[in-house]
Amino acid sequence: MWWSLKSFPLLFRMSSIFSKIVKGEIPSYKIAETNDYYAFLDINPLAKGHTLVIPKKEVDYLFDLKDDEYAGLQLFAKKVALAIKEVIPCTRIGVAVIGLEVPHAHIHLVPINGMGDLNFANPKLIIDAAEMKLISENIAKAFQNYL
Ligand code: AMP
Repeated sequence: MWWSLKSFPLLFRMSSIFSKIVKGEIPSYKIAETNDYYAFLDINPLAKGHTLVIPKKEVDYLFDLKDDEYAGLQLFAKKVALAIKEVIPCTRIGVAVIGLEVPHAHIHLVPINGMGDLNFANPKLIIDAAEMKLISENIAKAFQNYL
């Protein structure tokens, strides 16, 4: 048989919500995309410009990525962070990895002005669709400077 019992769960595993975003099956406020990576605004942001960067390859835990995949993701995140900083007035772009909610590796990039701004227990901002779209478009434009 071409498949074994061991591969059974893989055959029927559903795509993660982030894989669906990559495939365009559900919408996102896209910022940047390469062959291997994708960046989009977090839908429940801690700050304006709060962005998620992900590998297109569906791996749950960030540190299970292969070395080259991990390094590529970090370099991609750096470019995205520089673009966010150009658009959103802030002191720094904070970086966080949580991964307790969505089982698809991702890095949070959050514009911050102080340590407390990176507290994920803080209330999330409500930003209307028009502003989210504008923010993503502006960061996407700034990203072009880092290609
Ligand atoms: P965590 O896995 O704990 O790092 O959290 C997952 C993050 O993904 C949260 O900040 C969510 O707001 C965000 N998120 C979940 N679904 C979406 C979505 N469809 N579009 C954008 N961000 C999302």
